Amino acid sequence: MAEVPYFIDHATALEIAAKSLLQLESEDVPLDQAHGRVLSHDIASKVDDPPFDNSAMDGFAFMHEDSLHPPCSLEIIQTVQAGDTNTTQTLQTGQATRIMTGAPMPPGATSILPIERCEVDSLGQTVTLLEQGRPHFIRKQGENLEKNQVALTRGSNLTPSKIGLCATMGWPYVPVFKRARIGILSTGDELKFPGEKLEPHQIYESNSFGLAGLVEWMGHDAVRYEAVADSMDSLRKALTTASKECDLILTSGGVSMGDWDYVRKIMEEEGEIHYWRVKIRPGSPPLFGLWNGTPLFGLPGNPASSHVVFRILVAPYLRSSTAGGGPKEHHLRVQLADDLKGDAKCLALRRIKIDTSGDHPTAYSTGPQGSGNLNSIAQADGLTLLSPGQPSNKGDWCDAMLL
Ligand code: AMP
Ligand code: MG
Repeated sequence: MAEVPYFIDHATALEIAAKSLLQLESEDVPLDQAHGRVLSHDIASKVDDPPFDNSAMDGFAFMHEDSLHPPCSLEIIQTVQAGDTNTTQTLQTGQATRIMTGAPMPPGATSILPIERCEVDSLGQTVTLLEQGRPHFIRKQGENLEKNQVALTRGSNLTPSKIGLCATMGWPYVPVFKRARIGILSTGDELKFPGEKLEPHQIYESNSFGLAGLVEWMGHDAVRYEAVADSMDSLRKALTTASKECDLILTSGGVSMGDWDYVRKIMEEEGEIHYWRVKIRPGSPPLFGLWNGTPLFGLPGNPASSHVVFRILVAPYLRSSTAGGGPKEHHLRVQLADDLKGDAKCLALRRIKIDTSGDHPTAYSTGPQGSGNLNSIAQADGLTLLSPGQPSNKGDWCDAMLL
């Protein structure tokens, strides 16, 4: 193990894993299926938007100079509606066009007055403008987007408004990163499927379910395998199957210093370890490496730790693999309302509940913070980001990551 980076800080761990990012291909999906996907290429507009000058209001269009001294009476020469295919006449001075929102501006018209500020005579032949016209009610060709303008870049999350923008730009299909297949392998002789009868010394397996949820939340496909027993043979078999079927493997358990920590052992002897142990609490045991060329994160077995380590090591790795796409990491400065345990050497990620109802965000402990207590994270909406040695008593301030 001498040459493997050991007990490194968080930033170094991110850097090392970033050298073995997933190489995800691109696929074209119809806009109907694009929600939550990440663009794999820049998207340039195929058109000017709007494609032509048009009215932002239902009202009248005319030459602006004809409205300078209201009230002004103008002759109504035509009506234009959005989508009209009739040819529009060019306006002369003293003339007005009845116009609807989205209809093209008639040639010669330079101003608009909304219908509520106009009076039309009983024959519908003359309009009296009660106020000066509003040139800014003309939506100018290309004011939103110009043709060939790159409006969305590689790595953008396709949110509803961005999907709408793709349609506006004339793209019926968009190029997105293929979802990664991420295999999840829990290890431990003591693990039983939830609901089965527990023998003495057994517990319900929970990590693979939580990790599968995190994988889906990041926009990828989780492949949850059956829990693996603590033996080199069963691990070797399971890892090899997962490496053939998946782009990335997440294991849980078996990466600490114990005699039964076979994930670490098999990765040392038969795989390739790029780092082992990171200065974070909880969750210092993780390793990163390759099994048969497939990237692998060995996450700790303690349930709160496996969740925290996903958020702090795996999520950034997945974002980098999709040019920054996926749910973002949001930070907030909070004042502690409880004493929390910091750490002299490690980044301390305590589970907190954040109250934003007062003058400033306040953070409460979610209760016993042992790394086996999954409830501490299930109740949390944030993790403290306490740097080594940072004071962490009631009244102290720190950064927090929102969950
Ligand atoms: P390990 O990292 O294998 O030493 O496991 C640390 C602790 O986490 C032990 O108490 C295990 O029983 C528990 N544990 C390991 N894997 C899981 C799992 N998949 N679900 C729930 N608890 C687990
Ligand atoms: Mg174990």
